[in-house]
Amino acid sequence: MSVILRNGALIDAVPSLLYRAARHADARRLANSRWLLRRKSDGRYLACADQLHVGQEYALARLSPADARALRRFLGDEAFRPGKVPGTQTRRLLDQLGLQAARYGERTGLAWEDEPTSLHGAGLDRYGRPLWLTADTSAAWRRLLDAAADDDIALDAISGFRSHAYQLGIFRRKLSRGQSVEQILTVNAAPGFSEHHSGEAIDIGTPGEPPAEASFEHTDAFAWLGTHAERFGFRLSYPRDNPHGITYEPWHWRYVGGGKSLLLSR
Ligand SMILES: [Zn+2]
Repeated sequence: MSVILRNGALIDAVPSLLYRAARHADARRLANSRWLLRRKSDGRYLACADQLHVGQEYALARLSPADARALRRFLGDEAFRPGKVPGTQTRRLLDQLGLQAARYGERTGLAWEDEPTSLHGAGLDRYGRPLWLTADTSAAWRRLLDAAADDDIALDAISGFRSHAYQLGIFRRKLSRGQSVEQILTVNAAPGFSEHHSGEAIDIGTPGEPPAEASFEHTDAFAWLGTHAERFGFRLSYPRDNPHGITYEPWHWRYVGGGKSLLLSR
């Protein structure tokens, strides 16, 4: 059975069975429902529901008028749309931060990354959290893991899909601590421009190694990826001296496809 995340502009819906409620009273509600509805900006649990329809939801939190509106829009329209989530909201918020998307894209050579409206569960990440990826990426990741295991290489995922809202949340937190937009951009891609928004990027690690550190380069796991990952459709996005001016990230791989045919012709 495939496990699906339905992704809206401000709200997402995930299978209840994958998540735990903090409050006892909610735990029972959650356990007896099929979907958990969350606010994307901070992951707050807003409601649960058996079906994604307006009026079927049970609130798990006191909903602000904005939350209630977003929830209605999601259940009434967004929840079953195919394709990509419109990024208009994110672009507007970027403008408010004084960060023009077009100019930023030009300066860094980074592409705008829309979020898919549905993501597939690809097992758990290193921290036991559900790992969300596109269907194709998820399938390729499973094949990659199996092949690595056959060669006695243990890989794990540090992070997969991350939303625009999540990235905006990082910016807001850092701004409120007094950092400037320019300072934040030296470490974090602008919201809308992280490859993780696409559901096609995975930060890969190996047990015993710290997450997302340059030292990953010296592991057997990285050597194995260097030889085999491309056969499964994965490519290192930010090698040393990449044209985007992004620090070398040996852990960050993107599914670019084409791996399957290569695999069959091996
Ligand atoms: Zn990454």
